[in-house]
Amino acid sequence: MSISKEIEKIEKAGLLRRTHLLMPADRPGWVTYRGRSLMDLCSNDYLCLSHHPDLIDASCRASRTGGCSARASRLMSGTLEVHERLETAVARLKNSEAALVLGSGYLANTGIIPALCSRHDAIFSDRLNHASIMDGIQLSRARLFRYRHRDTGHLRQLLETHRQDYPNALIISESIFSMDGDMADIPALIRLKRQYSAMLLIDDAHATGIFGKYGEGAVERDVAREVDVITGTFGKALGSYGAYAAVSQEMKELLINRCRTFIFSTALPPSVTEASLSAIRIVTQDDRPRQYLLDLSARFRQLLRDETGISTHSVSQIVPITVGSNRAALELQRLLMDAGFFTKAIRPPTVPQNTARIRVSLTTAHHMDDLRRLVSVTKGFIIQDSYHQTQPVNSITSA
Ligand SMILES: *Cc1c(COP(=O)(O)O)cnc(C)c1O
Repeated sequence: MSISKEIEKIEKAGLLRRTHLLMPADRPGWVTYRGRSLMDLCSNDYLCLSHHPDLIDASCRASRTGGCSARASRLMSGTLEVHERLETAVARLKNSEAALVLGSGYLANTGIIPALCSRHDAIFSDRLNHASIMDGIQLSRARLFRYRHRDTGHLRQLLETHRQDYPNALIISESIFSMDGDMADIPALIRLKRQYSAMLLIDDAHATGIFGKYGEGAVERDVAREVDVITGTFGKALGSYGAYAAVSQEMKELLINRCRTFIFSTALPPSVTEASLSAIRIVTQDDRPRQYLLDLSARFRQLLRDETGISTHSVSQIVPITVGSNRAALELQRLLMDAGFFTKAIRPPTVPQNTARIRVSLTTAHHMDDLRRLVSVTKGFIIQDSYHQTQPVNSITSA
């Protein structure tokens, strides 16, 4: 393989990605990039907890007493008391019987899915599910049926036709989708899983800490036990790192024995685990930050629609500005950067062809005044001729 040719191919398709080194700014929600202070609209630190003094204190104290590493995988000598305390706190938050802490959301999905399904089984997956879910499905080698995004009618059809041919079936969906900010119909998924004797896995990554009465996520507490596995990450709204699976006691025991990313990977260090625990405490004690965030998001979506005509199905702090072509998304990214906003164009394969977009993720550090300016730059862009020239024939303005 010629590495330079491969890179050239990526570049020609308008898909070359680069990392950007961002320096911390003097206030949360902002970053310094090449000497300029920019509003950071790419961060998943929705509640700005990553810099909360309680998390930092908990983390430092844990390193001083427990060292910087768990020193082994959980099944060897790596299980620490703080892992168990965090599991108890997660189970209490989600109202599940038990919980298992894992290395990251990516490791949770790629480990749990193959633990539940194998070559002879079937998986029914939303077409827009996260890459970690797709990778978990591939590793399981189960037969994959993809249903149209959030289309439970299509899911029902697929189950009706194919369920009977497989011993086990697993339905998988995100709760709040990571690139569109829209929400799955969780009650409908629960009805279908019951009717067709399937298991159900919901990935609550972007809802944890934001949705629900206590910040438990988008799977409400009174239905949590109807969902076989709820996965989620500590790396987004909870401002830390790692992941959880909220499950029954029985499922936990199965995962401990079958989930290879749990078995064969070093346990999370004390610092990170204590920070996650501290984040759960903060989220459950004060609902005002998440109320502010959801309110801000609703007002931003409304303004975007009123001013630019771009509407979305988002119900959350994730708001896509879908412009269609890769070139248009890159151009809008550049204009926003010039205007003081750090955003990134999201292109295939992260999102479907011709739905390239700027994915705005809002945090509690942001204010409507800044967002008004962002909308006005976007409006200036989409009324230009050059924007229309970049559009594919069937231009899509809503994801
Ligand atoms: C971010 C994300 C993950 C991965 O979580 P990490 O803890 O960052 O590895 C998994 N699923 C979804 C839906 C995500 O958005």
